[in-house]
Amino acid sequence: MSGDRIRKTSAMMTSPRCGAETRSGTTCRAPAVHGKARCRMHGGARRSGAPKGNQNARTHGAFTQDGIAERRAIRALLGETWELLRELDFGE
Ligand SMILES: [Zn+2]
Repeated sequence: MSGDRIRKTSAMMTSPRCGAETRSGTTCRAPAVHGKARCRMHGGARRSGAPKGNQNARTHGAFTQDGIAERRAIRALLGETWELLRELDFGE
């Protein structure tokens, strides 16, 4: 690249930053890896983290997609039941 060419750096300057806390206590200002929240040195590198479907951090499963969906279904059923009871003048 020739030295007199002015580089267009707007995309570079506005890209999201990493923001991880560094060992010196400051905030990491390196650009985050595309599609990730952290830079390549702070967990944004390819294949960082647990593989898909990993259950190692699972404790009780109350916050899994299945657990949340189950509670939502129960709540909906409860709501419909109360509605029915109200219509039949049993509520209250
Ligand atoms: Zn970083």
